[in-house]
Amino acid sequence: MYALLDCNNFFVSCERALKPELDDKPVVVLSNNDGCVISRSNEAKALGVPMGAPAFKFKNLFVVNDVQVFSPKFEMYNYYSQEVMKIAKSYVPQNAFEVYSIDELFLDFHGFKYFNIYDYCCKIRKEINIELKLPTSIGLAPTKTLCKIANHIIKKETDKYPKGVYIMDSKEKIETALKELDIQDVWGIGRKLGTKMRDNGVHKAWDLLQKPETWVRKTMGIQGIRMINEFKGIPQLELDSPSDKKSIMVSRSFMKMISNKDELAERVETFAIYCAEKLRKQNSCCKVISVFIQTNRFRKELGEYKEGFSIVLPNPSSSSIVLAKFANTIFEAIYKEGFRYKKAGVMVSDFVPDNERLINLFEKDDDAKHIPIMKAIDKLNLKYGKDKIRLGGMSGKNTYGRATLSPEYEEFLKSNTLPEANYRFQ
Ligand SMILES: [Mg+2]
Repeated sequence: MYALLDCNNFFVSCERALKPELDDKPVVVLSNNDGCVISRSNEAKALGVPMGAPAFKFKNLFVVNDVQVFSPKFEMYNYYSQEVMKIAKSYVPQNAFEVYSIDELFLDFHGFKYFNIYDYCCKIRKEINIELKLPTSIGLAPTKTLCKIANHIIKKETDKYPKGVYIMDSKEKIETALKELDIQDVWGIGRKLGTKMRDNGVHKAWDLLQKPETWVRKTMGIQGIRMINEFKGIPQLELDSPSDKKSIMVSRSFMKMISNKDELAERVETFAIYCAEKLRKQNSCCKVISVFIQTNRFRKELGEYKEGFSIVLPNPSSSSIVLAKFANTIFEAIYKEGFRYKKAGVMVSDFVPDNERLINLFEKDDDAKHIPIMKAIDKLNLKYGKDKIRLGGMSGKNTYGRATLSPEYEEFLKSNTLPEANYRFQ
């Protein structure tokens, strides 16, 4: 049996943990630059504020209904996230978990045969609630896909599951759930695939199980076959090893749109350098680097452009210099003059441990030369603060901004040692 522990309305709940008087009030948290809604309390949902709603369109509704609106406090969310994970992890054997996102983690309960799993999960929830004041849901099922669905059910039918725990452990329960679940709400079915499904008469998750396997394979590939098996309770997706990240992404939405090429190039290089730092921290090198840039999708009238590209490095690398150089090469290739850019990002992937780098004898290898310098920079930055020691290209500017922080939050930042964010924030 697997379990998925999911924090309810996570960012909003963190705000409430910090400021209990927000309980029972409609609350929303906005994205960087206060662009759109990224977390809503149930009261805000009831007012009809959709996820991703552009804040300016709902300003009036917020005022009329006294909705409490917050700029994001990512340091704090990250802090709470790690505290939640710490508690949850302590209930399972070592490595029997997978941190899936900032507010979700899978737990592996195989081998808990003689436990009353329901009570056990209630205990986990209770501890998180008492220690951190955060509400969670725990959905249990034989497969990860079904766990997601179990959680969906808890959130939809809160009255039926007041303890926030639901175990979907029988054929009947699974069948009922699949018959009720809209196909686009299934984990792994995007908007595009959802439309295709409906065009072919697949409206509920259950309908997909009724389709011939050949159809599923043709439409969705091997992924579809896996999904069907997961629906049937045959696990196809194992827990991902907790330590190894498969890719690292650094991206930002800019407070002000950037139309100057050098300025954008500098941002992209800085993101590449951050990726390199993260790689060195986990002692890996990457084989692939990708860069993307895009204009503001909410300001289509200003002209729209978005492009991304990946290259395979001649040798695996974690050198800031090498990664910044290749990020710049990609940037030069995809940059188009005449647009105002809102967002850019760098992603590195396809990792190898840095002591297992296979060097291509026909290519120049700079990493061996760079790494001692890089490690020295990392140490200095750790001691004197982020970006105190910088490479030539970095301006050290923060182009993503937040509105003024509240006094409570300033206090929170002062009184807590915050671990570095492990997550990608929008
Ligand atoms: Mg959640």
